[in-house]
Amino acid sequence: MARYRQSRQHNAAAGGETGVLAATVLLLAALGTIAVGGLQMRWGPAWYYRLGVVRPAGIVIHHSATDEVVKGRHVNAQVIDRWHADQGWGMSSGQRVYHIGYHYVVLPDGTIQQGRPEWMPGAHTAGHNNTIGICLVGNFERRRPSRAQLQATIKLVARLMKKYHFTVNEVYGHRDLAATACPGRYVDVKAIARQAAKLAKRIDGNGAVRRGGRR
Ligand SMILES: [Zn+2]
Repeated sequence: MARYRQSRQHNAAAGGETGVLAATVLLLAALGTIAVGGLQMRWGPAWYYRLGVVRPAGIVIHHSATDEVVKGRHVNAQVIDRWHADQGWGMSSGQRVYHIGYHYVVLPDGTIQQGRPEWMPGAHTAGHNNTIGICLVGNFERRRPSRAQLQATIKLVARLMKKYHFTVNEVYGHRDLAATACPGRYVDVKAIARQAAKLAKRIDGNGAVRRGGRR
């Protein structure tokens, strides 16, 4: 009889534990849902990118395949943002919507403009938007990029290579990943990547380029 009671008590205790466990799991699930909802509200749908859970898989270089001036306006990040808005490529950061699919735009005079934030997935290469997209303004099927534009691109790629530990093989031209001529026959992506890799070795922890290298 005593044995029987003991075993019943044991079973009751085990049932209690299962109940507590189930309640805990439900509570954690609820808290998790609330947390995800909060992060989504604050930081947009790709919050996990922003938190650095997902790191970019490389760099993809594009050209705008346009003249420098289109309909009387110099092509830049703002103009491209408007073009991409028409494509419905927008993504919210929680504070503002970025339509531009690229993370950086490099102008013919060497100015580097920010597109969408680096943490945000791109909208520039179907199936490879986990990479950082850089767009050089111009049509490089027809002519070469300016020296200033090329140097700025190398510097930008070097900074990103240093930051994310990209290798030369993780710097792509759009044409390496899709059936396109982009970024044009006059852009040698491998040469840019190799020069950037050399430069990246001279970039210090603050992103500044150390002098020297030439002796
Ligand atoms: Zn492209």
